[in-house]
Amino acid sequence: MTAPLVPSLIAGEARESKSQDVHLIPNPATGETIAQLPWSTPEEVDAAIEAAQRAAIDWGETPVPDRADVMFRLKALLEEHFEELASLVVRENGKTLAEARGEVRRGVEVVDFACGAPTLLMGTRLDQVATGIDEELVRFPVGVVAGITPFNFPAMVPLWMIPLALVCGNSFVLKPSERTPLCAVRLGELIAEAGVPGGVFNIVHGGRDVVERLLTHPGIDAISFVGSAGVARAVYTGGAAAGKRVQALGGAKNHLVVMDDADLDPSLDALMSSAFGNAGQRCLAGSVAVGVGPAADPMLEGLVARAEKLHLGPGDDPTTDMGPVIREERRKELIDAIDAGTRAGAQLVTDGRGAGPAEGYFLGPTIFDNVTPEMDLWRTELFGPVLSVVRAADLDEALAVLNASSFGNQASIFTTSGASAREFRRRAEAGMLGVNIGVAAPMAFFPFTGWKQSFLGDLHATGADGVRFYTRHKVVTSRWPRTAAASADRDTRA
Ligand code: NAD
Repeated sequence: MTAPLVPSLIAGEARESKSQDVHLIPNPATGETIAQLPWSTPEEVDAAIEAAQRAAIDWGETPVPDRADVMFRLKALLEEHFEELASLVVRENGKTLAEARGEVRRGVEVVDFACGAPTLLMGTRLDQVATGIDEELVRFPVGVVAGITPFNFPAMVPLWMIPLALVCGNSFVLKPSERTPLCAVRLGELIAEAGVPGGVFNIVHGGRDVVERLLTHPGIDAISFVGSAGVARAVYTGGAAAGKRVQALGGAKNHLVVMDDADLDPSLDALMSSAFGNAGQRCLAGSVAVGVGPAADPMLEGLVARAEKLHLGPGDDPTTDMGPVIREERRKELIDAIDAGTRAGAQLVTDGRGAGPAEGYFLGPTIFDNVTPEMDLWRTELFGPVLSVVRAADLDEALAVLNASSFGNQASIFTTSGASAREFRRRAEAGMLGVNIGVAAPMAFFPFTGWKQSFLGDLHATGADGVRFYTRHKVVTSRWPRTAAASADRDTRA
């Protein structure tokens, strides 16, 4: 049986693309083709943008409580189809069912937040800023938003963007990852069922060419991007050069610092799930474990012992602890990076090469000891189940290592000392910090605050930043002088 074609969504219709450029979508756990994805033609991308432009007019005029009502319905639909969406994530991305459920839940939480639109979109006002003059700040939609998303969270990352952008009165063109387009299409169906009018939410497919068209098309007003650091930079500069508002969330190299006063067992459990959860394919994955002083040896021993017990397999098998990476090419790149790390002098203590089922793109947990900041292993984002151990004499040295990174998404400290935690909180140069937490993902009502190469832009995704990103404000200054007639009328009544 041939795998089904993935449709695009343009002006409220699921459309079969006219494109001849069709790519096969495999299940990463089995290699089996599960869908065929035509990459949208330039005409199809333009049609989606034009539909969004037309639809933005009425949608932006729709009363805010009515747009919030649509979010309440979307929330109900997402709950109803929760397991279906989680299974779809497992199928196209490879993560375990528990991880997929976690992802969908985090996505739904953004819809919960968007339901509060009447409060979130309120302006501010000050009467009598000067004699007889009042001033108010009011929020308006930006217009048409383009969302460009990565493969590693096919449900959650689109849901970081769509609910807030729509509830703020914008229309949307989503370009999901060309490696994981299926959740996006299902979300599109549920968004329509929730009552979002045709054309307000559109989906096109493809890679760099489609993204570049979105970046330069005059019909797009704002761009929300999530992906690797190099592409984030290209999207940020390209979008800004075309005069658009851009938020570009990039890659990461997250450090997890283990102090010698840490409560070791729970700390190591947290390190394992941070480094190897989602097969290390998380922008908040811990990829450098910094053992401080005497903590380094027991930390390494504990990590190695735990890594040996991880069971690799398909995400829908309840005995699986870790799924595959997304593609065979990715697995090969990671194996090349492991080979290069060994050649650079790092000590390979747990070797994941060759682990896991032969079909599918598996790579076992891999741990290097004695990694130093001169090595590529430390410098670059590998985005797979490879953990580097760095040894530091004290907290100052650990902070110096992590602050030297060009990335600044997340950093965590494991300690029982409030003083060390406080020092870390003040001095660590990353936007999301964990204290005894391995994956310090902010809830939907806080922003997702990467620093350095991990984020380019001014306003982050989700939380109040998200609302500000998807709205433009006006400040209205008013004076209403009394007309002679009104004054006379008042005098008569008095
Ligand atoms: P990617 O950069 O390869 O792709 C992201 C999106 O950009 C996709 O939609 C893709 O089609 C498009 N794209 C790819 N190459 C392009 C190019 N040259 N020009 C224009 N567009 C292009 O990222 P990925 O491999 O799908 O996802 C993993 C990356 O995303 C990791 O680096 C990870 O750290 C990052 N990520 C970051 C966050 C965050 O919050 N900072 C969250 C999730 C993922």
